[in-house]
Amino acid sequence: MSETRVPTGLLDTFGRTATDLRVSLTERCNLRCTYCMPADGLPLPPADAVLTAEEVVRLVRVAVERLGVRQVRFTGGEPLLRRDLVDIVAGCAALRPRPELSLTTNAVGLASRAAALAAAGLDRVNVSLDSLHAATYAQIARRPFLQQTLDGIAAAAEAGLGPIKVNAVLLRGVNEHHAAELLAWCLERGHQLRVIEQMPLDADGVWDRATMVTAAETRALLSARFDLTPDATPREGAPAELYLVRDRAGGPVLGRVGIIASVTESFCADCRRTRLTADGAVRSCLFSAEETSLRTALRGGADDEGLAELWRAAMWAKPAGHGLDRGLVPAPSRSMSAIGG
Ligand code: SAM
Ligand code: SF4
Repeated sequence: MSETRVPTGLLDTFGRTATDLRVSLTERCNLRCTYCMPADGLPLPPADAVLTAEEVVRLVRVAVERLGVRQVRFTGGEPLLRRDLVDIVAGCAALRPRPELSLTTNAVGLASRAAALAAAGLDRVNVSLDSLHAATYAQIARRPFLQQTLDGIAAAAEAGLGPIKVNAVLLRGVNEHHAAELLAWCLERGHQLRVIEQMPLDADGVWDRATMVTAAETRALLSARFDLTPDATPREGAPAELYLVRDRAGGPVLGRVGIIASVTESFCADCRRTRLTADGAVRSCLFSAEETSLRTALRGGADDEGLAELWRAAMWAKPAGHGLDRGLVPAPSRSMSAIGG
């Protein structure tokens, strides 16, 4: 365990402190969402460059014990493709202070693993689901796995991995007209829909500011069927702007919907995130051009404080923001599936 506890966390020069860690567990995926990956997939890092379960748990331990990280979200690529996911979750659940553990997944294959993940200590899941229509799902994901995703969500609810957040990216002319239906479906089941603005993080480079569906449009699309009122609860660094949802005719609050306006109303000034890639690099921002490899130091025999110090230095240099809301289009050095969304 830690001999020297150093009081500083992951501060940056703009006064922000990161307490929320996104850990990518793999760059592999069983879907090929058009806004994320090319149809033929991406070149993968050599297998031995990807952190082992033990290495992941060690780095998460350093983050939790020495750097003040309180929330850990496993992502990818598709994290369910890691056969040792249960071991990773169990290892992180044993850390003290116990971090909150969540998983972002497309839920394909979750049906058979939800109970084991919950038993290992996973607290909740965020599931990507862009449409309830099989043809539209398959058009976006380039794979016909809608039913597997729905089964995965049902199993996660059954296993107590809630509140379940359902992430959707709206694409013009493809699924934006399904947004209100998706919200109704989530409300009926007690899940929280979160609509994410499409970011220029696709490997094909097809993102276009002029045609993306904005947060303002999303509000208008949902308001055709529901009444949305901003939720006054403080956001506390959460990326989603929350709205209370009622029927248009009035009545009780049916639930909440989140809108993540990463492009048009970016929240960089309050960002509390740090990221670890599957091959063990720290990224201070999704759009960073820079990263710091912890894997090299880890495998070179660095002690916990040495790793913590590298992580602090990487985060100290975190940029103020990506500038998308000011019309800039940063060119990240990796696409979404390779960073970990
Ligand atoms: N495979 C898992 C999944 O889809 O949930 C985890 C990784 S995925 C990269 C994480 C999240 O990033 C998903 O909710 C996905 O919709 C989102 N995402 C991927 N590419 C995006 C883009 N270009 N803009 C906005 N969100 C994106
Ligand atoms: Fe895979 Fe998730 Fe990217 Fe879709 S968004 S291709 S499921 S990593």
